[in-house]
Amino acid sequence: MKVLLVFAHPEPRSLNGALRDVAIRELEAQGHEVRVSDLYADGWKSEVDRADFPVLAPDARFRPAAASGEAFVADALTEDVKAEQEKLLWADVLILQFPLWWFTMPAILKGWVDRVYAYGFAYGVGEHSDRRWGDRYGEGTLAGKRAMLIVTAGGWEEHYSARGINGPIDDLLFPINHGILYYPGYDVLPPFVAYRVDRLDDAGFEAVAEQLRERMRTLGSTPSIPYRRQNGGDYLIPSMQLRPGLGDPGATGLALHLNGAGAAGPGWVDEA
Ligand code: FAD
Repeated sequence: MKVLLVFAHPEPRSLNGALRDVAIRELEAQGHEVRVSDLYADGWKSEVDRADFPVLAPDARFRPAAASGEAFVADALTEDVKAEQEKLLWADVLILQFPLWWFTMPAILKGWVDRVYAYGFAYGVGEHSDRRWGDRYGEGTLAGKRAMLIVTAGGWEEHYSARGINGPIDDLLFPINHGILYYPGYDVLPPFVAYRVDRLDDAGFEAVAEQLRERMRTLGSTPSIPYRRQNGGDYLIPSMQLRPGLGDPGATGLALHLNGAGAAGPGWVDEA
């Protein structure tokens, strides 16, 4: 398979840097082809602004989504954005790797999403009408490909458990897994999360590295998170609400968007 790893840590000698190397070595040992987007090393521009749309008239009001769509159609996005889109189309699997910072991804990676996920490429795809709300959540440009997160966290696994004070890790990562990866079509694998890493010793590192190697070995076979497909009949259109009768009675919240046996329980995370 072709694998794109998008790496968001400022220090190559960090734990994340070491785990990235572990992942790449294992993937290559399995015969996969790997490309890396190293956002800090590449000096990735993380903020969306007018400079992203050179064809925008100087006196025109800047509307980011409209400018994005027009530039995408005109093939006038900036070269750095087009290069990342080309990598996404090339890759069978996308891996986003980052340290958990303030319960989410570092800003530079969010900025990669903001800029690379252009209108017409990752959103605004397909028919938008009262009968259909586009090709998204399981459909879209990146459908048929797989994606997963590699995350390190200072907090303990218990802190991110069902009753943990930080909130369940599946809930915290939902906006990324469901909102960023599933949205444009990816089948999303359970994330790899390494907890309590800030004082990891050599033995701890080797244990985490071996769990990560195993996830790299099973990249093509690990079942994806069973999110409901937008256009699979489970949602009312155009309200986009889950149909009455689906999901556990009285249930609310993020787990409603999982389908199938075991969907209500925790445990989509591969906990290191
Ligand atoms: P590093 O600091 O590089 O290393 C961590 C430890 O691993 C060190 O002790 C290092 O010696 C050891 N190590 C063992 N083997 C190796 C090896 N082979 N190579 C390199 N190092 C090794 N945590 C949360 O849980 N939730 C949050 O919301 C959160 N917010 C944060 C916000 C900010 C701005 C920051 C800076 C940190 C935050 N943290 C949070 C903690 C953060 O998630 C961790 O510090 C981070 O995941 C550690 O990854 P690292 O690659 O930076 O580790």
